[in-house]
Amino acid sequence: MEDLCSMSPKRLRCLCSKDMDGRRISQDEVTALLQAFNAIWQHPTATNPKKPHTILSGGRHSNGFVNLRIPLSYPNINELLAEQLAMLVYDYATTSDSVNPSDITWVAGSDSAALSVSYAVARLFSGSRWWPMQKKIDFDPELALRSLAELLSNSPMTKGYSEKADQLQNILQTAKDRALQIWENMELGDEPVILQVEELVTTSKTLRQVRDGLLAAAKGKPVHFLPVIPVIVFRPAEGESDQIDDSRIVPLARYQIDTWPATGCPLCQAGSPCVPIKAIWEEATKECQS
Ligand SMILES: [Zn+2]
Repeated sequence: MEDLCSMSPKRLRCLCSKDMDGRRISQDEVTALLQAFNAIWQHPTATNPKKPHTILSGGRHSNGFVNLRIPLSYPNINELLAEQLAMLVYDYATTSDSVNPSDITWVAGSDSAALSVSYAVARLFSGSRWWPMQKKIDFDPELALRSLAELLSNSPMTKGYSEKADQLQNILQTAKDRALQIWENMELGDEPVILQVEELVTTSKTLRQVRDGLLAAAKGKPVHFLPVIPVIVFRPAEGESDQIDDSRIVPLARYQIDTWPATGCPLCQAGSPCVPIKAIWEEATKECQS
């Protein structure tokens, strides 16, 4: 099996797990695979600092972006990456007495990004089961609608407009931050052994939400989480650890991606234009096709 880095994007998009012949994928190969789907972009700060960088939805400026939704929407890539995640667990098991892959009773991943890949991982551990987590937004519609009504009753030219718009934005953001991952309509059984799987981890927030949802479903009975959490991409936010409780995040690829407030962005200061991510993708797609 040749190195994935030397393959054309078209061939990479058609890869299957059996093409890997049971070998581990390297970090550079993950990058090549993601590039074939335009699923990763990193600012060439060292070689071309004046190339455009991007602004994220929250307003911060950034030198990189990873979006695994497109590659994971291809079942062949989803399965290939799932097999690599399962290998991470087997690798970990060889170094730790506390991990026995045959003990896994459930595999869980967050709704919605990690559902397909966690299902594909569960298929690779004989005897393990899978059930979808469900994302629930903790949202107070009355409060949001009241703010919206007040907002609309004001003329855009009046002073209260931007203040109300900010308030509404805050309500929506708080609701998003308080999203819950729920497990329902299925019994976990006695002393479940759960393997958590994620596609992309930036902070421990989603991992924690999934864990809390499973603990809530167990209603106080003991739950065992495997001490390893295989993830496709780990791009930790500043100060973020690779540990949640006693479980360690083990990624197929790890990237350093920085974000800054607009006022303190070193790329803006270096003369790089800040553009929406859409413009970056369009440019990358053009380069890919040329
Ligand atoms: Zn900037």
